[in-house]
Amino acid sequence: MDRDAAVEANDDTEPTPAPKRKSKKAMSAMEARDRRFLLEYIVTTGCRRIPWNKFFGNASKRESIFSHLTIINTLPIALPCPVPAGARCCDNCAPDQFPVETIRLTGGSSLKSGRRRHAKVSEELLHEATEVLKSLRNSIARRDFPDGYIITGKILMSDQIVEAIAPRVRDITSIETLADNIRWHWTPKYGGEVVDAIRNLLLRYPDLELEAREADKRERAFVALQSLAEADLRKKTWADF
Ligand SMILES: [Zn+2]
Repeated sequence: MDRDAAVEANDDTEPTPAPKRKSKKAMSAMEARDRRFLLEYIVTTGCRRIPWNKFFGNASKRESIFSHLTIINTLPIALPCPVPAGARCCDNCAPDQFPVETIRLTGGSSLKSGRRRHAKVSEELLHEATEVLKSLRNSIARRDFPDGYIITGKILMSDQIVEAIAPRVRDITSIETLADNIRWHWTPKYGGEVVDAIRNLLLRYPDLELEAREADKRERAFVALQSLAEADLRKKTWADF
């Protein structure tokens, strides 16, 4: 059975709901076929080897590709049910042999799954960062592309880029961190100016949380030092007796 024929063949024992398509135009026949089999592989409650073998046309390979190899010809190339002795079949046939791994994340808040966290930015800072970036893009455009109608500020740095940078200004401390956070075509050329503009802006928006933590650290270091000095003094005082 060839690959296309395999697609056409309807397997009555395993209903395969047609995959939902977001855009019919965008999907080629090959993609549609891949999806159909992938979906069947995922949703089947029967043996997963069945859609797998159908997808790769393994039944026909046994006769054609491997027919000259007698030793292989005696092996179940098509991975049928039942499976070769000693091999695991699949999680549907032998769920005990396919334990589900439990993954637990440990460590700091920086390891939280999902969206990357970034340092908090106030509404006011967000607004001003947006303004700073927009005026920077315009002044770069005026300076480096004085023609003014081919490369404008907006083309140089789209509003999308501005909106992506603005909430992350506290994390963008260098060209490297800019490149890590934002995919911007001009980072190599103008990244430095963006980083400088952000640094200047942040002078007026110190990170209060960070400062509080630093002050706390200094305070504790001072207290520790003080008690050391006191202990030292007591020791000396006793020694004098
Ligand atoms: Zn199986």
